[in-house]
Amino acid sequence: MSPPLDNPRLLRAQYIALARQLPLMYFILVVNTWALVTTHLDNAPRWLTLYVPLAMTLICSVRGGMWWRMRHHPPAPELIARALVRTNLLAPPIATAFTLWSLALFPYGDIYAQSHVAFYMAITVIGVIFSMMHLRPAAQSTALIVNLVFVVFFSTKGNTAFTATALNVLLVSITMLVILNNHYRAFTRLVDAQAKAEQLSDENLKLANEDSLTGLPNRRQFFTTLDREMANAEARGTRLAVGIIDLDGFKPVNDQFGHSVGDRLLAQVGQRLNSLLEEDMHLARLGGDEFALILANDANDDALVAFGQRVCDALATPFLLTDLPVQIGGSLGMATFPDMATNAIEAFEYADYALYHSKRTNRGALSMFTACHHQQLLHEGVTEQALRRADIEQEFHLVFQPVIDLRTQRTVSFEALARWHNPKLGDVSPYHFIPVAERIGLINRLTPPLLRKALATANRWPEDIRLSFNLSAHDCASDEVAGQIVEVIVQSGFDPGRLDLEITETATMQDIVQVQRTIDGFRQLGCGISLDDFGTGYSSLSQLHSLAFTKIKIDRSFVTGLHEKPASYKIVKSLVALSMDMQLDCIVEGVETRSELDALASLGCSLVQGYFYSKPMSPASAEAWLAQENTTDRRQCSLPTAKP
Ligand code: C2E
Ligand code: CA
Ligand code: CA
Repeated sequence: MSPPLDNPRLLRAQYIALARQLPLMYFILVVNTWALVTTHLDNAPRWLTLYVPLAMTLICSVRGGMWWRMRHHPPAPELIARALVRTNLLAPPIATAFTLWSLALFPYGDIYAQSHVAFYMAITVIGVIFSMMHLRPAAQSTALIVNLVFVVFFSTKGNTAFTATALNVLLVSITMLVILNNHYRAFTRLVDAQAKAEQLSDENLKLANEDSLTGLPNRRQFFTTLDREMANAEARGTRLAVGIIDLDGFKPVNDQFGHSVGDRLLAQVGQRLNSLLEEDMHLARLGGDEFALILANDANDDALVAFGQRVCDALATPFLLTDLPVQIGGSLGMATFPDMATNAIEAFEYADYALYHSKRTNRGALSMFTACHHQQLLHEGVTEQALRRADIEQEFHLVFQPVIDLRTQRTVSFEALARWHNPKLGDVSPYHFIPVAERIGLINRLTPPLLRKALATANRWPEDIRLSFNLSAHDCASDEVAGQIVEVIVQSGFDPGRLDLEITETATMQDIVQVQRTIDGFRQLGCGISLDDFGTGYSSLSQLHSLAFTKIKIDRSFVTGLHEKPASYKIVKSLVALSMDMQLDCIVEGVETRSELDALASLGCSLVQGYFYSKPMSPASAEAWLAQENTTDRRQCSLPTAKP
């Protein structure tokens, strides 16, 4: 009599099916019962034709009504189990009651009315079995009771027609029970298959939304959550912040210790970040070493900054992966809704922009997207459009700034610096357009033609004058681009031994293995490699040593006023000593005054570049500069002589 209590899903399916069928079954019972009453109304006693049928109708209506009400709202699993057990238990007494009642009418009817009793029992039991086919014990007990009584009663009446009917009903009932059994098994299988399909689709859904390495939500889930939280924040009128985290120094760890250590590091980063989360905060891994946050906790700027600080501190704490602690860091960009961004896409873009600023100027810390960033973004948007449409050959040209050897006071090389004149925007500084070109991936189209122009100019110089050319991080990021650069150099006919390629420290930090390969390629060709803006990045000595640099260029920021600033003076002093130790040439950039120059000379610097000698100048001015150098002794000069 027990339903499959260990299978709540099957119980529920049974309940739903029964809730639709049992009201119909009670309806059949009541209608058939009153039909039988009408054929016995004149002869049978009142209790059989009125009171008992009324009582049975009442019971049927109550039970049928109950099922009817529940057809759309199945109750909790325990209540379902109880209802099914109750139905199983009620089936035999109800079946017995109806059977005995109909047989009690038998003696009061003529042969037609008696046939009606037989017909009533046979047809009703078939209807009942069908209606209860999803509840096997109830269907079986009903079939058993009714058929047993029916066969015994009618086959002993000595009437051939009744005996034949009894046998027919027995046969049909057995067949029906077999069919019912098969049907029930098919029903169980169907429910199980549905359960498996649902489980599978749940798993697929989880896989599609989860990052398998960290177990965190992935990019897709992040944007789904962001949309939802954004709608909530909008409806509630609360503040929401989107944060994007990019690890600093992850690539070197991956390269040095291998991918499995890199994977473990990412998993630990995920755990560490996850442990910082408070209510209404979400964390996801977007891919690579990039993670993202949604802070839907209506926090003010102070709270956001404090949280950002906790994130950066957590990432700057060493990780234990190998025998040695591994040190990385993380930069974080954050944008808020509704004060800065107006929708989810903007919030993400702005956070990404803030992160980009963090990476460039504020590594290892949080940058909030500000109104000032918004202005810059609009400005960059204009630059971006103009850059995409620019005629590179026409609009771009180069100027050249001399590098002077203090010992001889003569020019040893020129650094080529790009200039852009756009018909609409006018002159745009490389400080502005180079980062935009890098961000939109246009720098690789810019470098080869500029290098071609620089080499063509340098081909007209005396053979002892070198050329320096600036490469972007993106120029070193793939073999294909590096190959294009090599091709330009080879085709120019310029001696690669007279060419220095300048690469900034930040460029070398992107993907050290690839950068090393690219640099080795240039070195094999005979080019020199200068480390530009030295002192502003984070490169470790070992990293610098592994890259085959031939020169370093000390950044302008240490040179300005160094004769009055002990800190700058000391830094330049140690950088110069370092370059000597590593047997590298050292160029000091941005020398503007004689006092700076004198201070540098006292430190033993020999190669300098800066406005003190000359601003960057046109190719023609550069040629004139060289010609003039042969006729004048620069030791006499104390002021810059060339015009840009
Ligand atoms: P950089 O490579 O550090 O170039 C030196 C910058 O300092 C140049 O700015 C130069 O004009 C400026 N400068 C030189 N001497 C002085 C001085 O005494 N005082 C001051 N205040 N500034 C001085 P510029 O030409 O505006 O270039 C800016 C940056 O844009 C460059 O910095 C370089 O990183 C990038 N850049 C320029 N041309 C190219 C290029 O062709 N390709 C790439 N990838 N980057 C370039
Ligand atoms: Ca440079
Ligand atoms: Ca520089």
